[in-house]
Amino acid sequence: MNQLLVALDVDTAHGARALADQLRGAVGGFKIGSRLFTSHGPSIVEELAARGDRIFLDLKFHDIPNTVAGAVAAAARLGVWMVNVHASGGDAMMRAARDAAREEAARMSRRAPLVIAVTVLTSLDEGALDAIGVRAAMAEQVARLAALAQSAGLDGVVASPQEIGLIRARCGADFSIVTPGIRGGAAAAAKDDQQRTMTAADALAAGASYLVVGRPIIAAADPRAAAERIAAECRTAHAS
Ligand code: C5P
Repeated sequence: MNQLLVALDVDTAHGARALADQLRGAVGGFKIGSRLFTSHGPSIVEELAARGDRIFLDLKFHDIPNTVAGAVAAAARLGVWMVNVHASGGDAMMRAARDAAREEAARMSRRAPLVIAVTVLTSLDEGALDAIGVRAAMAEQVARLAALAQSAGLDGVVASPQEIGLIRARCGADFSIVTPGIRGGAAAAAKDDQQRTMTAADALAAGASYLVVGRPIIAAADPRAAAERIAAECRTAHAS
């Protein structure tokens, strides 16, 4: 199931490699975030990408354009398939990220990584937005940043299940929406720390392009079986 991405939220390269070996073929790729990257650096990213795995490097770059461009170019050299930045870094920063991805990939005769944006972190509520000086309502702020990412030439956004509909309505069909917060259905019943959740089938039906699933797969007694159950549920969403 190409749309199912598994978050390799583990502390060791050995653990990440073991999970990837178990799940390869059942899922569409692996997300490597700041936890594994800070522990083990780029070598595990490069290793899995060199094996042909699609790697979403989830480091949420947020810095001045020149620095973000350098980081995105470095990600392209590692062979990642997708990388992300914060939309609140602004238009110039997102354009620099997009250009760096394309230029570095062209230099290496590779396909450019997809560059997507984080709009508003799902850990923030409207009170937290207000505290950092954002007076807009959550939905308005998410839609504004998604539209800004699209106009800067980015390929899509990360969005919670509840935001999929408004982003699809604002940005159209040709814009990737990557959705974490998948629970229920074939995913584990436990919500862990995720609050606003949706099943895999419902998120796809709502218009998600890719789903990011972590603990319901990686903490399962049999991760491969858990991934196959969720992949099967995703296929039912397409059939309906
Ligand atoms: O284990 P779980 O399925 O909750 O993992 C979801 C993954 O997606 C984690 O790596 C988490 O950091 C990430 N994520 C998220 N919510 C966001 C953005 C990323 O849960 N808004």
